[in-house]
Order: sequence, then C-alpha cells, then structure tokens
Amino acid sequence: MTTFSKSSIIRQLLLLLGAGLLLGSLFGKPFLGLSIAMGSYFIWSIRQLIKLLDWLNDPKTSSKEPPESTGLWGEVFDSIYRMQKNHGRSRQKLTMVIQRIQESTSALSDGVVLIDHNHSLEWWNPSAAALLGLQSPDDQGQNITNLLRDPRFADYFELGRYQKALEIPSPVNDDAQLQFNITIYGKGNRLMIVRDVTRLNQLEVMRKDFVANVSHELRTPLTVVAGYLETMLDNLGPDSDLPPVWEKALNRMQEQSLRMQNLVADLLLLSKLESAEANVDPNGIHLSSMLQSIVEDGRALSGENQHQISLKCDDDIVLSGSGHELRSAFSNLVFNAVRYTPLGGKVKIRWKQSKEGGRLIVEDNGVGIDPQHIPRLTERFYRIDKSRSQNTGGTGLGLAIVKHVMLRHGGRLTISSHPGKGSKFVCHFPDRCLELVVAE
Ligand code: ADP
Repeated sequence: MTTFSKSSIIRQLLLLLGAGLLLGSLFGKPFLGLSIAMGSYFIWSIRQLIKLLDWLNDPKTSSKEPPESTGLWGEVFDSIYRMQKNHGRSRQKLTMVIQRIQESTSALSDGVVLIDHNHSLEWWNPSAAALLGLQSPDDQGQNITNLLRDPRFADYFELGRYQKALEIPSPVNDDAQLQFNITIYGKGNRLMIVRDVTRLNQLEVMRKDFVANVSHELRTPLTVVAGYLETMLDNLGPDSDLPPVWEKALNRMQEQSLRMQNLVADLLLLSKLESAEANVDPNGIHLSSMLQSIVEDGRALSGENQHQISLKCDDDIVLSGSGHELRSAFSNLVFNAVRYTPLGGKVKIRWKQSKEGGRLIVEDNGVGIDPQHIPRLTERFYRIDKSRSQNTGGTGLGLAIVKHVMLRHGGRLTISSHPGKGSKFVCHFPDRCLELVVAE
C-alpha cells in the first residue's frame, strides 16, 4: 500500500469519526455519536471481511474481479487481486517450463525415471516405460525395487554407490542389456537414466573377437617367416648362395619379425585376459621362485648394461591366482624397469605384506615419467616417446596387460615417478590372494 493511500485511509477514518462526534454534539451526546460512527465502521468492516472470504473461497477467484469496495478494504481487495494475478502468471510460466522439460525428455531414446526419497516412482518418460515395462498410472507411486526385481539392481540402488553404472539384462527382454545411471538430487530424490547398451556390447564383443582372430591368424605365417629367416641367417657364410650384403637386411627382418611375434603374443594375451576366466593354479604360486627366474631374465635383458637388480621376498609366500598371468605382469614391470633405466642403474623388486594384503614393488632409478603421462600409461599402445620405446623393443601393451592381470586378481596397479629420478610400480593384492600363504 502506498503512503498516499495510507494517509487517505486515515483521513477518511478520521472524517467518519469527526462526523459522528459532530452529529452527536448537535444532540448533546458527542460520545454516543462517536460510538455510532465506530459501530457502523465495525459492521461495515465485518461485511467487507465476509465479502473477501466469499471471493477467496470461490474456485474462480484468480479470474474473477474482486468485490467492489472503498477505503482500506478496497485497497486490501486490490492488493490480493494483484498478488493472485502475479502468482497465476508465475505458475503459468512454471507449468510451461515443466511441459517443455517433459516434452524434451519424452523425445529422448534413453529412459528417464524420477524416484522420490521413499523410493517410489514419481514420473518416467515413454522410453523408460518401453525399456522397463512400466505402466501408467498403475506403477505410479510403486517402490522401484518391487518393479525391478533383479537382486543386482536392488543392491546397486540400496548401496548408493552410483559412481559406476550398473549393467543387467532388461526385465522385459532377456536378449537386451540395460545400463543404469543414478544421480541423487534434492533431499534423497533420484534421477535414473536407463540406456539400452545391447548394440554397444555386441560391437565390443565383435572388436575383441576381431583382434583375437587376427592375432591368432597372424601367428602361423609369422612363425614360418621367422623360421626361414633364422635358417637363412644360419646358412650365411662364404659358401652361401646369398651375397653378404643381405646379412644386414636379414638381421633387420629377423628383428622386426620378432617384434611382430611379441606384439601378436601380447594381443592374444590381452584378448584372453578380457574374455576368459582366470585359471587359478590349484597349488598356488611360489612367489619367490617366480620372481627369482624373472630377475634372471631381467639380467639377461640387461646384458652389457649390467643393471643392479635386487630382490627381497620371503621364501614362504604363496599367492592364489594364475601363475601364467602373474608371471607375465611381473616380467613386464621388471623388463620395463631395465629398459627405461640407463646403464648401471638400479632395479629393486620387493614384496611387502600388511593387514590389507600384499604389495609387489618394482622400483628403478631410471629416466622416470612426466606426471601428465601417468594416468594414461595403462592404455593400449600409449607411449610417452615413440622413438624411445621402439628402440627398447616394447610392444606398447605391457602396462595394459599388468593392469588387466591385477584387475582379474581383485587388485590394482599404482604408478609413481619423478622424471630423471626413477619410477615405482606397485601391484596391490587383496587379502584373498594371500589365502594360501603358508609357512612351510
Ligand atoms: P612399452 O612396450 O612401450 O614399454 P608399456 O605399456 O610397457 O609399453 O609402457 C608404456 C610406456 O610407459 C612406455 O612406452 C614407457 O614410456 C613408459 N614406462 C613404462 N615403464 C617405465 C619405467 N620403468 N620407467 C620409465 N618409463 C616407463
């Protein structure tokens, strides 16, 4: 209410009271006149209040003009009417925004489901209805875990660890695979995005099969080529039909065929790591003897470079897992340490045990790795410096193999390094891999 209207209302009221007092004075009863004026004002106010209530209780209040009135009550009616108009406009805007959000999410091919803090279904788009078999309005307000009965979904939903998506078969089609992503918003409400990943998974399987098949098919021709090259090199000499200039070329060809054989072997191993189950050695793996033989191979690789390779591991450690896979992972780490450490450098291999499990640490004082490369080192064919690793004869798959082997054993690989000072690769094993630890 403006200052002007406030003062005019007070003026009107004073006028009424003054008139009552004046009239009363004319009849010699000023207080009676004043009381009649006040009483009339009171009765009039009650009538206005009743009008206001009638108007507010009318369902069409927002569209209906307010009742006619003057003075204070006129101002009250007009203010309420203005507020209602504004409120109506905001509500209309909000409804339009909600409508547009619903229209756009309805057009999405991914399912969108809103779940309230009681885990009841609030709203879903048509794609969610098709992917999950939800029916409107029957399923509205139903608990989501009553509708999606896969125990993996119930665990995922209840545990609330939504950093990773969940993939399970569709409840309406066994051949389809669905991916669930949940985000918490507001006070315990959940936004669930459901995506059909059947095609993506099929493509992934096709990719893995393709790599495995190509690698497998390349193995035989490569063995033949490498075999002939070896025979030719063995027969090179003064009595040979081949001119001596061929020696350099044959040596290069043998080197490259060996590189390709290593590459194919690593690709096949990676394919196996991705698809098949790990073969757990029934008698466990005697870690110390495995590491001892890897150290000997490492010394052979070092050759003239004469790295100082040291090993610290108790004789009685027995790991549970696949010996073939673990040997491959540890060899990769030790050979890398030798390859990326200059002449005379140190390579330390240690086994450490704690309550949480065990750690195999391979540390060197070699060239080190720039921190920016560390997060990407376990990607296939990721190389910091192409020329450097080609010189070392690596395949670019070594650390990818180590990472996969560790994941299959429930463990993980961590890398820390200082450029120019050296690197530390740690294989963390969970307690369950040490179940077979025995003191013989
Ligand atoms: P590669 O066959 O090229 O060695 P890896 O997957 O084994 O492939 O290693 C990836 C990259 O990580 C290597 O190209 C190399 O640059 C770096 N790297 C691995 N181990 C070490 C190490 N001990 N010291 C320094 N750099 C390393």
